[in-house]
Amino acid sequence: MLVSGFPRVSLAHLPTRLEHLPRLTEHLGGPDIWIKRDDCTGLATGGNKARKLEFSMGEALERGADTIITVGAVQSNHVRQAAAAACKLGLKCEVLLEHRVANPSKQYMTSGNVLLDRIFGANLRFYDNDTDFDAEMQEIAREVEAEGGTPYIIPGGASSPVGDLGYVACAEELLRQFDEQDVAFDHMVIPSGSAGTHAGLIVGLRGNGSDLPILGIGVNVPRTEQEGKVFGLACDTAEFVGRPGCVIREDIVADCNYVGRGYGEPTDAMNEAVLMLARTEGLLFDPVYTGKALAGLIDYVREGRFEKGQTILFVHTGGVAGLFAYADKLKLDQGSCLG
Ligand SMILES: *Cc1c(COP(=O)(O)O)cnc(C)c1O
Repeated sequence: MLVSGFPRVSLAHLPTRLEHLPRLTEHLGGPDIWIKRDDCTGLATGGNKARKLEFSMGEALERGADTIITVGAVQSNHVRQAAAAACKLGLKCEVLLEHRVANPSKQYMTSGNVLLDRIFGANLRFYDNDTDFDAEMQEIAREVEAEGGTPYIIPGGASSPVGDLGYVACAEELLRQFDEQDVAFDHMVIPSGSAGTHAGLIVGLRGNGSDLPILGIGVNVPRTEQEGKVFGLACDTAEFVGRPGCVIREDIVADCNYVGRGYGEPTDAMNEAVLMLARTEGLLFDPVYTGKALAGLIDYVREGRFEKGQTILFVHTGGVAGLFAYADKLKLDQGSCLG
């Protein structure tokens, strides 16, 4: 195990299930589609940040921290899970929330993840999107110290070599499940945001000798920028776990054609994907990450880029709490998919 020896606290329900999606597979008429249920990690309605926080919080406790400082968009799933983890571990939580979407609705500003952040008692501060968040977090850390506290800063999405260990471990969990469930995959598809999930998975696969390709679907910036970000973080993470150079630039693929107008801005294809998975499989996906990544997967099947005879794994990274913030933005009458 590449992650043994690093400080870790138990926060997630592991292993998460690896399941076949027969009705989606049939509905699309292309490759066999499976899903990794990281929406079911438990912590505060689940999602991928629980795995990353096991290691970030592990380091925070090891350093004697009593206050966590972190950052995200207003509807950040990371912030919601960090706030919950802080409660569970008896730490205070200072949160910087970034206004990232245009004309946010009342629901966007108060429901979904924001409601849960407040239930967990996190101290929320709101900022414009041109804020220097690193500098601002340092400033808050100095305030905490001045009051006699010990701060620990977790970067956005817990994407750092430390947080990425959660997805190095997830890759190892998956390799075991492939064996146990006797299934082999041609491609893995994931949402790619602050990049730690993507970086951790590729390091976990390559570092254990697997050459399974990963297709990241970007949710934010253009392709070159996203791939550069993932590759940089993957190289740092590979070194951190003692496998320097195990990832090459060609391993990093991020298709950023499904972002739409921008981060957190709904698209029709996302809307269709969310309804399709709900109505074929009874599964919930989110508007910001997994809905757009699924829209990418669906498009790849329709375009014949993934085809019958192949087996595709989609990693469901969670985000369901965010659905409630988009109640007024989703169009719910786009066909039933019940065929
Ligand atoms: C944060 C997040 C992602 C993206 O993971 P990164 O490690 O930030 O790239 C995907 N899905 C959901 C639901 C998330 O909250």
